[in-house]
Amino acid sequence: MTTELYYNLLYGWMGLAVIIFPVLLKITVPYGRHTTKTWGPVLPNKWGWFIMEIPVLLLFSWFFFTGSAEKTIPVFIFYIAFMIHYFNRVFIFPFRMKDNGKQMPWLIVIFGLFFNFANSFFNGYWFGTLCDGLYPDSWLKDPRFISGAVLFLAGMYINITSDNTLLNLRKGGKKGYFIPQGKLFNYVSSPNLLGEIIEWIGWALMSWALAPFSFALWTMANLIPRAIDHHRWYRKTFSDYPENRKAVIPFII
Ligand code: NDP
Repeated sequence: MTTELYYNLLYGWMGLAVIIFPVLLKITVPYGRHTTKTWGPVLPNKWGWFIMEIPVLLLFSWFFFTGSAEKTIPVFIFYIAFMIHYFNRVFIFPFRMKDNGKQMPWLIVIFGLFFNFANSFFNGYWFGTLCDGLYPDSWLKDPRFISGAVLFLAGMYINITSDNTLLNLRKGGKKGYFIPQGKLFNYVSSPNLLGEIIEWIGWALMSWALAPFSFALWTMANLIPRAIDHHRWYRKTFSDYPENRKAVIPFII
């Protein structure tokens, strides 16, 4: 593929995120607590997650290792950071969910696969091939790399620990939904989604490149509307839901 074609596709992909964002603000994507059978055939939630996310690990690795770019230490760090996140998302997170047989529409899996294929291609091809020569080992001392790495780690910590808090709400065989409390839950309804947004902004900052930035943009386009939907749902479901809590960005949204 020519570099020009790659960038034309990438600009188109980013443009699509900008179009999708207001659409997602209008519709509620039906999985998890918002699941419905009106979006066609369904499959078990856990397997939906697994099928949707596993191609990311495979495709990103394939583009990364078959690409001709020199794999310097910073380039390997970008790869490993990405893989750690997706290892958790594919092999750990879905199998810890106590979802009481909840199901997800196949249509969501198909949309998820489309997003994941595109994202794996743009980022895998960037770090596998196109970034050749741009990240010498001295990049590790660049302030963008250092501040991005701090953000990435902080985001991952917030994402995983907040997912844990939610998963623990059904400890001991409890069913249904409860009001999560403590730490960032005192400020927002979905700190797990906030953590994921911070993570990918950090990854984009660390590498200072358009493909990772497109991933951060898509993450915001997906997760800000989802967090707003969760927040609305909490307010509707619990009459004693904390008044001051926002959806995803403390004090703002
Ligand atoms: P949720 O926050 O809705 O749920 C996470 C898990 O906790 C589910 O098992 C859910 O059960 C359970 N849970 C949530 N809230 C409660 C509660 N109040 N009481 C009891 N149990 C609860 O997660 P999302 O589906 O929105 O996201 C899950 C993860 O996937 C997050 O880490 C998110 O960042 C990531 N994600 C990433 C996307 C991306 O574009 N990169 C897109 C979407 C998600 P149940 O399923 O039964 O509701």
